[in-house]
Amino acid sequence: MYLGAFIFLIGLCVGSFLNVVIFRTRNERSIVRGRSRCTVCQIELRPAELVPVLSFLFLRGRCRMCASKISVQYPLVEFVTGSLFLLFFLRYTQGFALQDYINSSNIGIAFLRDIVFVAFLMIVFVYDLRYVEILDRFTVPAMGFALVMNLLLGVDAESLLLGASVLGGFFLVQYTISKGRWVGGGDIRMGLLMGLMLGLRDGLMALFIAYLIGALFGLVLIVSKRANWKTAIPFGTFLSIATLIVLLFGKPMLYWYLGLFM
Ligand SMILES: [Zn+2]
Repeated sequence: MYLGAFIFLIGLCVGSFLNVVIFRTRNERSIVRGRSRCTVCQIELRPAELVPVLSFLFLRGRCRMCASKISVQYPLVEFVTGSLFLLFFLRYTQGFALQDYINSSNIGIAFLRDIVFVAFLMIVFVYDLRYVEILDRFTVPAMGFALVMNLLLGVDAESLLLGASVLGGFFLVQYTISKGRWVGGGDIRMGLLMGLMLGLRDGLMALFIAYLIGALFGLVLIVSKRANWKTAIPFGTFLSIATLIVLLFGKPMLYWYLGLFM
């Protein structure tokens, strides 16, 4: 119980750090050096204004100096990261939806793997949603991490490499046919990453779910007349959500799906 609350707080702080990484990457500033500032009046934030979620609430979403609005993205990213950390923690302590390769001897490694996955996927999610770009500086290190951790956990190496080839290849083919107009190079690397994170079977499931979410999202935008058929869709955002869903609920979802035919 206390440990769960602690993990949630750690997640909030990691979320806060992810905001810094995203903002400073976009603005080409050092991630470790320099204090955070108001993006409008440039006043340095006080330590008390760096507390995840709470600072935003106390400041009522406005800068103390110039009163300009603070993006709701900051507390949202913190809260969602904290919640995902807690969800993965509960999954291991309550033992729900665990994949076959996870057992009592490697739960620690699996949990560490999952929260680092959450951090990388949150960055891809937010960055692609805001700037419609999937950066290699996030997906490439994540690939190495995913491969090492999954091999440590005893995930089938063949499934990981096949998953990376098939998912990466899927985007590579579209990239080649459309000469880079349908998907970007970042999508190819994201496909490789999903294969290395999930393996072939779960990777394909995530790809399918991403298209389902993307189609629903696109329809809602078109029906509400906020977009047309040519609007650029941040597909990395849907790929990230789908990867998280399959990481958490892949096994029960697969059993449910197979149950439909038996
Ligand atoms: Zn300000």
